[in-house]
Parts: sequence; structure tokens; C-alpha cells
Amino acid sequence: MEQNPRQTCIICSQEKEEGIVIVSQFICEDCESEMVHTEADDAKYRFFIGRMKKIGLQKNA
Ligand SMILES: [Zn+2]
Repeated sequence: MEQNPRQTCIICSQEKEEGIVIVSQFICEDCESEMVHTEADDAKYRFFIGRMKKIGLQKNA
């Protein structure tokens, strides 16, 4: 199997091989799983949402 090229995560800014791509932005699996387990009132969640807004995932918030 070929290795995936490393991509830079938009959340943690680290280069990772494993992750997901949302609206052509890469989010590593660590951040993705963190997002899933983050409570809505958590400060980190707001940080994530801020990042999401930046890449245009949410049109209204
Ligand atoms: Zn990350």
C-alpha cells in the first residue's frame, strides 16, 4: 500500500497522514475525534467552530 502524503491539519497545524478532508481542508484524525467528543459549551469547541467559519463550513452561526 502506498503511503498517503502528509497534509497540514487546519486545527493543530501539524502534518499528519491520517485524517479527513472537509471543504478541501484537512483535519487530522486526532483533532477530528477530539471534535466529536468536545462538549458544545467547551471553549475548545468554540475554537473549532471559529476555525470552521474561517474555512467557510458554516454559512450562518
Ligand atoms: Zn490536528
